[in-house]
Amino acid sequence: MLRIGHGYDVHRLTEGRKLILGGVYIPFEKGLLGHSDADVLTHAVMDSMLGACALGDIGKLFPDNDDRFKGADSLVLLRRVTEILFKNGWRLSNLDVTVAAQSPKLSPHIQKMRENLSAAIGCDISRISVKATTEEHLGFTGEGLGMSATAVCLVESIG
Ligand code: MG
Repeated sequence: MLRIGHGYDVHRLTEGRKLILGGVYIPFEKGLLGHSDADVLTHAVMDSMLGACALGDIGKLFPDNDDRFKGADSLVLLRRVTEILFKNGWRLSNLDVTVAAQSPKLSPHIQKMRENLSAAIGCDISRISVKATTEEHLGFTGEGLGMSATAVCLVESIG
């Protein structure tokens, strides 16, 4: 049995924070603001996986008022989400995520993001697609105020 899931996330860009996307540290003048490492791309991925299985969302699993998740590495949270799916009889079939950012240029980092996501999920990298786009200077991503990410995935039942 296959099921589809969708995830969406937004974080504000601010000075004095590291920019982490797909678990990759990307040197830039600003970083994303959040309780965890604010890895917007990995957050959308997790919400798509949880959504496919109707298991809630990361806000429910990892509340932003819980000190255990302050500065959390989102790849560690993704491992946890993968375990939760497994316990409920599901594993990822494939994943496609797009991050919207006006700058910096993300194409040099895409392969490493795919490697990080596939390692955390424990699947072959061929099942993981990561894309980046600008929004042509339009809206909050285009004005450099923040970044957004959307993800879709399929999960398959185990056994
Ligand atoms: Mg988030």
